[in-house]
Amino acid sequence: MAYALERWDLSDLFPGLESEAYARAGTALEDFLRGFEAARPRLNDGLTPREMFEILQSFDELQRQVSRYLGFAYLRFAEDTQDPLAQTMRGRADQVAAEVGNRTLFFTLWWKGQAEARAQALLSGAGDYRQWLLNLRREAPYTLSEPEERIINLKDVTGRHALVGVYDTLTNRYTFQIEVDGETRHVTRGELEAYRTDPRPEVRAASYRELLRVYAAEGNVLGQLYQSLVRDWANENVDLRRFSSPVAVRNLGNDLPDEVVETLLDVCRQKAPVFQRFFRLKAEWLGVERLRRYDLYAPVGEVHRTFPLDDAVHEVLAAFEAFEPRVARQAQQVLDERHFDGEVRPGKRSGAFCATIEPGLTPWVLQSYQGQPRDVATLAHELGHAIHASLAAGHTALTQQATLPLAETASTFGEMLLIDRLLAQDPEPEVRQALLFRQMDDNYATVLRQAYFAVFEKEAHGRVVAGAQVDDLSDLYLETLREQFGDAIELSEDFRAEWLAIPHIYHTPFYVYAYAFGQLLVLSLYQQFRDEGRSFIPRYLEILAAGGSDSPMNTLGKAGIDVRQRAFWEKGFGVLERALDALSELPRPSPAK
Ligand SMILES: [Zn+2]
Repeated sequence: MAYALERWDLSDLFPGLESEAYARAGTALEDFLRGFEAARPRLNDGLTPREMFEILQSFDELQRQVSRYLGFAYLRFAEDTQDPLAQTMRGRADQVAAEVGNRTLFFTLWWKGQAEARAQALLSGAGDYRQWLLNLRREAPYTLSEPEERIINLKDVTGRHALVGVYDTLTNRYTFQIEVDGETRHVTRGELEAYRTDPRPEVRAASYRELLRVYAAEGNVLGQLYQSLVRDWANENVDLRRFSSPVAVRNLGNDLPDEVVETLLDVCRQKAPVFQRFFRLKAEWLGVERLRRYDLYAPVGEVHRTFPLDDAVHEVLAAFEAFEPRVARQAQQVLDERHFDGEVRPGKRSGAFCATIEPGLTPWVLQSYQGQPRDVATLAHELGHAIHASLAAGHTALTQQATLPLAETASTFGEMLLIDRLLAQDPEPEVRQALLFRQMDDNYATVLRQAYFAVFEKEAHGRVVAGAQVDDLSDLYLETLREQFGDAIELSEDFRAEWLAIPHIYHTPFYVYAYAFGQLLVLSLYQQFRDEGRSFIPRYLEILAAGGSDSPMNTLGKAGIDVRQRAFWEKGFGVLERALDALSELPRPSPAK
């Protein structure tokens, strides 16, 4: 079958935004919601597990309807963000979703408020909804009295949320200047950062210097915002709710034991020299003595080979097929059902994603396919997400999708399968080199960089409470950079200000370690696959098929994986060391460039 770069087909959802069917779905949703609200009086002490199950089924159905209604508007918008109709309908669908959230709050609140014995009785009949219900109750031990919770909610609006809002407003307003080819350009942050991969060293340096200059100039106010957010975090979560530490709040949300996260971060610090070796190697390739921090993402060589979509699809599906034919068929379904939009069009959403609407529907994948090796890897990545969703399609709409720590498992694994296939075919050196460097660049950005952000955050939260000033935090940040780079990178003082420019640490403290967790998890699983061969496959597929129907620890535990062990995480770094070995064996380009 030949695959074309074209717009996807959304008709499995609705014929169009102005269609009769879409309007009817909106009305039906309202009716269904009213029906669900009518269940409210049934939520009393006499509710049997059987009745509870029926209410859950009805809630599940409501979520499916919302997901289709909202999903369609979002996908139409992603397909053409400039279409005024799609813009309007997306806004309307958002409102509908928010209203459904508000009008069903009574149900989740009621459930969270049930006494433990009563909750256990109801859980016994909950079937596949069990984990979803458990997730809602996980915070129960840290929940305060209702009036206290109400005050926190109320004060958060003008407190924590307002502070984050001020950070966003200030930083989104920043404009940047950069001189390229003798011309001064006024650019957004995104455009500025694109110059980090410019082949010219002076342009890369200028890109970083400008970003750091602007943030450093605002360091006092941005730093104060951070200090207030961190103090608020400690006051609420440690003092009032009695969490054992600031990071424990996030661990509970991710359903991971504290010691697992400690071990992960510890192994990352200990293995920083693996990336330092990479940076030294990259310096050699670029023909410089030592890499400056500005050169971290410098491109190595040029790639002339391009992959037409058909070739890319062939390579990706063949890589999946060799692994397990069933998953190859699930990926192919996305393409055969025309749920793939790979065309490059003005107005189309940038980047790539895979959207899972509900268990019965093949997911939709969007990317702007341009034929570079990295586009082929992205295709494998997004189709990996689709495989994950399809394998877990036996679950309910509430439990199909994996929780954050496991969400990138199939996608990253799929990318690894593809890269290994392309490398094994012994393509031209320039393609091998592009693939291997991209893999290491990505791994640095996802594993070590994120792990060190978390290391910084943990230390910063402690020091702010102990009275640290903004300048002390900048010193601390520079210390963490020195540790991660060792003497492999020439680190300039201007990077002291970099932490001010990381939105995650303001928005969602400690979120970043999940990136390192997910990526390293997959690397380690991949190494297990290499060591064990095909006997590994059923256990791996079981992890994916669990979706979000169990806790990450149970899902991994059932597959015989113990993330409490250092050795498990170290195995992940082993894959990177092997990739580095492969890179060292490639012939170097002549330094005269
Ligand atoms: Zn992904």
